[in-house]
Amino acid sequence: YKKKSMEIFEDIESDVRSYCRAFPTVFTKAENYTLQDVDGKEYVDFFAGAGALNYGHNNHKMKKKLIDYIMNNGITHSLDMATSAKAVFLEKFNEVILKPRKMNYKVMFPGPTGTNTVESALKLARKVTGRETIMSFTNAFHGMTLGSLSVTGNKFKRHGAGVPLNHSVFAPYDKYYGDKFDTINYIEKLIDGAATGITTPAAIILETVQGEGGINVAEFEWLRRISEVCKLREIILIIDDVQAGCGRTGTFFSFENTGIEPDIVCLSKSIGGYGLPMAITLIKPEIDIWKPGEHNGTFRGNNLAFITAVEALTYWENDDLHKDVMRHEETVKIFLDELVIKYPIIKGEVRGRGLMQGLSLGIEGFAEKVCKIAFEKGLIMETCGANKEVLKIMPPLTIDSVGLMKGLKVLESSVETCIK
Ligand code: PMP
Repeated sequence: YKKKSMEIFEDIESDVRSYCRAFPTVFTKAENYTLQDVDGKEYVDFFAGAGALNYGHNNHKMKKKLIDYIMNNGITHSLDMATSAKAVFLEKFNEVILKPRKMNYKVMFPGPTGTNTVESALKLARKVTGRETIMSFTNAFHGMTLGSLSVTGNKFKRHGAGVPLNHSVFAPYDKYYGDKFDTINYIEKLIDGAATGITTPAAIILETVQGEGGINVAEFEWLRRISEVCKLREIILIIDDVQAGCGRTGTFFSFENTGIEPDIVCLSKSIGGYGLPMAITLIKPEIDIWKPGEHNGTFRGNNLAFITAVEALTYWENDDLHKDVMRHEETVKIFLDELVIKYPIIKGEVRGRGLMQGLSLGIEGFAEKVCKIAFEKGLIMETCGANKEVLKIMPPLTIDSVGLMKGLKVLESSVETCIK
């Protein structure tokens, strides 16, 4: 590129409706946790492609496999046909993920993105139960197409539809009304109390850690009780692990130590590895009732993503990545806890699991300001929460201690700058 970053940026901004406003530069290269723009400026990445790069940018192992596959004229279309790449992925997924966890699920490819897996889950739950309503939660985020948006709690996002979205009912997420309020009791009354006018839902859909909604962490006991609510009423339990899954919280599935067994699991973002679009829907065999063709599409089996996904799964053949995430979690928590004590003015609260951490800030507009300054200082970070009040710390899981500390120090110095 002969043009400077901001010249290209203005061209792009004037021509397309894009996301890039939050990060006004033009990125050109990336490796593991570092991004570079066309001016040669480097950034530490605490955003990881919105969670799609758990294994880092341009992961070396995946890159090599992808090049070999293309050089060998491997199938590159994404139709849901039988291909050797798909067969290898399914075998590996079964061997490395499902079998060791004693999980019995059918694997479906619902389309390229997170919203596709959510749509498939909602649609199947309705077909299986013959019921219409879906229950989801305050501050939930499940996607931007009509079905997934209808179960997304964020009002601003829902307003994008212009008219009310039907068939959904929102319940309070764990601790939404504080520690004292028994949300499960409330939910049971909501479902069973005829006076509320709510019919038994087809499904309850939830994130074990709400990503876009502000890094809200559900207690394991709360998840178990939700699971009981579902079992007693034959409600399909859908866990949306699109963001919290694929190792983000330290284990491959975010729910695997909770004792719950979802009927449907949604995965996307990092399942393909390498940032390639891929999604899967895991379905309990007894509710796998769709006939061939009842749910299909052109881009359901991304063969290039199967190649990189197999490499991604090798990270789960041993405990190393899990241990790294746990170690990094500790570093982030200690750092942020100290930051909160050092600067009481920011009214900070730290929460999260694994490398899905949030720093909630009690001053309106402060988190957005910190992100803007952090970007100028070389750190890519996003806000989340209903009022964008939470800083989201979500680097690639493959980040090393040096990179992690570098990013955290930029975060601290950005907070300092914003206080002044
Ligand atoms: N579910 C969750 C929990 C998500 O975080 C997201 C994306 N942020 C989605 C679904 C939708 O995924 P996509 O943007 O790929 O459609």
